[in-house]
Amino acid sequence: MNRSFRTLRERRDKIIEDERTIQLQERVKNIRAYSIKNMDLLIEKVVKNFEKNGVEVILAEKSEDALDALYSIVKDESIIAKSKSNTAGEIGLSEFLEDKGVQVVETDLGDRIVQLDPDSNPSHPIGPASHLRMDDIVKIISNEFNIDIKPEPRAILDIIKQDVLLKLAKCNIGITGANSVAADDGSVITVHNEGNINLVSMLDIHIIIVGIDKLVETIEDAVSVVKLETIFASGKTVPAYMNVISSHSKTADIEKILLDGMYGPRRVVVILLDNGRKQAIKKGGECLLCIGCGSCIVTCPIYNEIGNEFGYKRYLGGRGVVLSSFIDGNQSCFDSGLFTCTLCGLCTNKCPVGIKTNNLIKNLRNDSVDLNIIIDEHKSIKDRIKKKGSPFKQ
Ligand code: SF4
Repeated sequence: MNRSFRTLRERRDKIIEDERTIQLQERVKNIRAYSIKNMDLLIEKVVKNFEKNGVEVILAEKSEDALDALYSIVKDESIIAKSKSNTAGEIGLSEFLEDKGVQVVETDLGDRIVQLDPDSNPSHPIGPASHLRMDDIVKIISNEFNIDIKPEPRAILDIIKQDVLLKLAKCNIGITGANSVAADDGSVITVHNEGNINLVSMLDIHIIIVGIDKLVETIEDAVSVVKLETIFASGKTVPAYMNVISSHSKTADIEKILLDGMYGPRRVVVILLDNGRKQAIKKGGECLLCIGCGSCIVTCPIYNEIGNEFGYKRYLGGRGVVLSSFIDGNQSCFDSGLFTCTLCGLCTNKCPVGIKTNNLIKNLRNDSVDLNIIIDEHKSIKDRIKKKGSPFKQ
């Protein structure tokens, strides 16, 4: 992980000094603040505009609602394809579908490697296999395909690519997340480098699962958000691909008769997930300003030591700890590492939208003490103070 992140940190630290990045940062801060303040209005607009564009839209209040909606579409399939999505990870989509007998094929290289390793969980939003060394990966691939493979990145890539493409040919449904959603235009933006989202989103039915926190007002705002996300996530100004999806595929080239599903999907379905986000907005909504770049975690000293043990599902580091309290409640927040954080504030220094994660964690610790959800060491200190008047008295 350290090796993976060192170059990333160096590239990012150079580019974020650029005047254009600083201006973009200010713009995105305002965009995100507007979204949080006007969430109900944006939801209303996006539903109307998606429907106008022929995109089906489902509002899911909880994880279960999103999973039920999803299953009603995929229930007759034996295999579906998927690209990286934190929201899918949040609702446990892959586990849910696999339990129902639907095979889920991850198409992102890192995610596919992690999926083939029963002992692994993704370790970074854009580098899910960053915690694995070449030797580990070779072992995973050899076990899965029962072959000897050279410890070379290209050889690994070729084997996974060939296998995923064969499986993709059997899939009718592709599931992706979204990096930003434009309410006024009824459009979704996805960002990727591998080209896998192009393949997944071109299957017969494309399902997009996305949190309401990804909503912004216009398509120009959405592009600004994903551009800043790319800069802070990768240290590059643009990703290889930025797709805008505003409709299913259609043609009217024969006597102006409208036909759906030319080369792309016949149906596009967007599942918009709340799952505690409106609750987070009631409490100020600062954690929802996040654009998901992961810059905070590559700087975090705790994450750099213990990796994905610090955080909640795909939401890693202190930011994940904060989100978990709204998604899953106080006990889950405690279990995600509420008291693991050092409160050093390095995450805040490197956050493009200025989220003060360390302060949010401090406030949550306060709530947690009120609820008596505290670590054993603190309990014994509390008991000694109560009984003996001092934490030092035995
Ligand atoms: S909290 Fe800030 S630095 Fe961390 S992922 Fe979100 S936007 Fe990026």
